[in-house]
Amino acid sequence: MTDRGFNTRCLHLEETEGKIENYGALSFPIYQTATYAHPCVGESTGYDYSRLQNPTREQLEKMVASLEGGNDAFALSTGMAAISLLMEIFKPGDHIIVEEDLYGGSIRLFENVSKKNHYEFTYLNCAKDNIEDHIKSNTRAIYLETPTNPMMNVSDISKISEIAKRHDLILIVDNTFLSPYFQNPLTLGADVVIHSGTKFLGGHNDTLAGFIVTGNEKIQEKLRFLIKTTGSGLAPFDSWLILRGMKTLGIRMEKSQDNAIRLANWLKEQRIVTKVIYPGLPEHPGYDIMKKQARGFGSMITFKVDTKEHARKILECVNMIKFAESLGGVETLITYPITQTHADVREEVRMKNGITPCTLRLSTGIEDIEDLLRELSEVFDQLNDNG
Ligand SMILES: *Cc1c(COP(=O)(O)O)cnc(C)c1O
Repeated sequence: MTDRGFNTRCLHLEETEGKIENYGALSFPIYQTATYAHPCVGESTGYDYSRLQNPTREQLEKMVASLEGGNDAFALSTGMAAISLLMEIFKPGDHIIVEEDLYGGSIRLFENVSKKNHYEFTYLNCAKDNIEDHIKSNTRAIYLETPTNPMMNVSDISKISEIAKRHDLILIVDNTFLSPYFQNPLTLGADVVIHSGTKFLGGHNDTLAGFIVTGNEKIQEKLRFLIKTTGSGLAPFDSWLILRGMKTLGIRMEKSQDNAIRLANWLKEQRIVTKVIYPGLPEHPGYDIMKKQARGFGSMITFKVDTKEHARKILECVNMIKFAESLGGVETLITYPITQTHADVREEVRMKNGITPCTLRLSTGIEDIEDLLRELSEVFDQLNDNG
């Protein structure tokens, strides 16, 4: 990472500075081309075919690598495409230890696709369980999210990276929830970082994208081969949309976090709310670890209400706040994990993790806080009146 500040690095790539390229265009061009002409046999401009290399995608990959402090980044068509590609670096018989409270789509991939390749998974609460007790001779990796989706469990990345190093395991962290603005797992000892670029990096609820970032050269080499071979690289136009979204990453993260802190404290005061889970509240069990390993707490809030009827009513009554899947965009969204993001997670796992019919998840956007509070007050007042 260079000495430049984060917000500057969201806008400028140092290596291209001082050169007048692309007619001086400030907005990086969209190289909407499938192929590239060669000067003669055995020579190349460095670009052969867009499945392998595309300048717009490359610009985005360099930017994300710089923000995460990695050597290289890979831009894929979705977050799930990124996780699927990463799973290809393992071999049949490999065992992976996985955080049990993961994004539901990742669990669906591991259980229904990866297992076909004879991968073995052990699901743990990585914030609490003793990971070392579960390492076997065929264990190759540990896969984390912190804070987790949706229950916001926080695990200590440095501590787990020490375990990973001791046993020669690859530590993978899905950093979607905090974005590189608030947390950089590679600098805490992780080997690979995953992002759903659809979320905070893109930030506008308009584009799907995914990233793998690494500082490990062996993994990097394998992934370059895999992206060329499997062909799930991000399209030029979508790469440009994410580049544009990332320009405001820092100010979006700050504003949505400010709103989230206000909303979390407001929710705590509501009669029908039984629990507010936000890692920025000092009573959250992961608060101290967050203070140590992250620069902020993010804008995701999970909360529980007293009855399933009240949960459903809230989802029906919101208007400006949208009842929709996804997160990390400028608009505030409310999600029902049990039927949406985590519908494919087995019921006993959901219950163990506390994902019940009374659990709701808010992705706080950048609206004026007064408007968010007014809307939620109207909805909650109705529920209070109706008992
Ligand atoms: C959304 C999400 C994904 C999947 O990303 P897509 O871009 O939707 O494919 C993976 N991990 C986390 C934590 C997510 O929130």
